[in-house]
Amino acid sequence: MSSFSGSAHSRRPPGNPLLPRRVGGALTEHSTDVVILGAGASGLACAEALYAAGVRFEVLEARDRVGGRALTDYALAPGLPLEIGAQMVHGRHVVTHRWIREAGMTVRPWPVSQRALFSMNRRLCRVPWLALPGYPGFGFRAYWAGAHTLPHRLRTSSGPDLSLSDFLDREAPPVGARRIVELLHAHVYAADPDEIGIQGPGEEERRAAEEFGYRNFRLDGGYSELFRRRSRPYQGRIRLGTRVRAIRYREDAVTVETDDGARLSTDVYRARAAVVTFPLGVLKAGSVEFDPPLPEPKQSAIRRIAFGQGYALQLRLSGTDLKDRFGDFSLVWAGGPTTFHRPGVGRHNVPEVVSAFTVGRAAAARARLSPDERVQATLAEFSEALPAGATIGQVAATSVQLWPQDPFAQGAYSFLPVGVGPEERQVLAAPLGTSLFFAGEATEWHGESATIHGAIATGLRAASEVQAALRRGTAPADTAVGTVESRSEPDRAK
Ligand SMILES: Cc1cc2nc3c(=O)[nH]c(=O)nc-3n(C[C@H](O)[C@H](O)[C@H](O)COP(=O)(O)OP(=O)(O)OC[C@H]3O[C@@H](n4cnc5c(N)ncnc54)[C@H](O)[C@@H]3O)c2cc1C
Repeated sequence: MSSFSGSAHSRRPPGNPLLPRRVGGALTEHSTDVVILGAGASGLACAEALYAAGVRFEVLEARDRVGGRALTDYALAPGLPLEIGAQMVHGRHVVTHRWIREAGMTVRPWPVSQRALFSMNRRLCRVPWLALPGYPGFGFRAYWAGAHTLPHRLRTSSGPDLSLSDFLDREAPPVGARRIVELLHAHVYAADPDEIGIQGPGEEERRAAEEFGYRNFRLDGGYSELFRRRSRPYQGRIRLGTRVRAIRYREDAVTVETDDGARLSTDVYRARAAVVTFPLGVLKAGSVEFDPPLPEPKQSAIRRIAFGQGYALQLRLSGTDLKDRFGDFSLVWAGGPTTFHRPGVGRHNVPEVVSAFTVGRAAAARARLSPDERVQATLAEFSEALPAGATIGQVAATSVQLWPQDPFAQGAYSFLPVGVGPEERQVLAAPLGTSLFFAGEATEWHGESATIHGAIATGLRAASEVQAALRRGTAPADTAVGTVESRSEPDRAK
């Protein structure tokens, strides 16, 4: 285990070009070997690996909690933790299962596809029934095309890249097939079908270890609890409420300028290396300064890889007859911007909650509405998907995290639009010199981006890269002490 005993403080050496200049006010300096920027799944995975290897590090996180885009609401429906960020564990063999087991937690299979209801003209149809005759637009042909033929063609397509909607227009499958494909190949990417490409995502599906969307699990205790437990051993090294404003990097040293969000205090971290794990949305927004600016190929990757929009609005219902009328369903979808999930599927004596997962342009637009308008727009969409006379009931309480407007996410997760392949993710992931490393779901290029397990894999990758650099390495950052009063240039506005 590490011999780390907290950060050392230093008096700024005169004329160090890596340090910020500032008029008045206290500037606290810290020195360590590695700074990990962001405490989401990738940052925490990186921290775990460095902790196990005995490397000195600190994690700088803008929010007042760990977990990033994984966030659980424990209050809205007692006994039923509700995920308002990452919803499920995708896949049977992914690393998240080991993380969960080691944290003493459990999962349960989430019967998304078995208990999904597709809606057409306000008529609901279970997925297995898609194979039966008598459902116009569905039926065996639609089921086979949606679940097998079209996904296979998407995976193996080698022609010029098209958007998913152009591909589906060209193939003209039955409506039921189109709905299955749009759900698994666009909606889950938090994008509209005309935004997503087919070549890039097809290549990612070929690279992925497991077929996406068919084996899903729900974490009983919630993702927030998982990340709290995993980060406990090194929680003393996580600086919450620490927003990174600027990263000044040289071949073998990094200085990271932070504030507390309100700019009441400024801390500067000097390290041998930094691992950037910010969401792609944050990199696109340019809200963190890189000095020198990132090289053009990396900036181009940031522009070209797309960032989906989405949020899960949790609606606790009273007086609803949905379960009595339609059985213990997991999901209803009518092809609009929202899938309506029941997080309590398969469970008894838990509050009735519908989780409305809205994606794409509609998510960005609805995120700008007032809370009431957003709930009304969502309920209107839900009621149009249900057979006439279904009683949704009253909304007793709601909970949501509007990721499109969240300054530390700026959206949901990444996807590949038309003309962009997974190699762009590799460019985004590439280290700069031996001091600046990149992790985060958008940097995953083996077909596991946009997931918790993909993010974990990138954090582990960055930890190996950093350790290799430290081993090759130049001397660790100065160990220095002090609080600097600086009176030179105006504060850097950000
Ligand atoms: C609505 C939604 C549903 C999802 N559903 C699933 C799912 O079902 N299954 C699944 O596997 N995945 C799902 N995901 C994706 C999954 O949540 C992400 O892939 C994963 O959490 C990303 O981890 P990360 O470490 O790359 O990024 P993050 O978790 O975003 O971590 C980055 C960290 O950087 C911090 N940060 C940002 N800017 C600054 C700054 N300036 N200074 C300091 N810190 C900063 C952020 O606060 C954050 O904590 C979902 C995501 C969303 C939003």
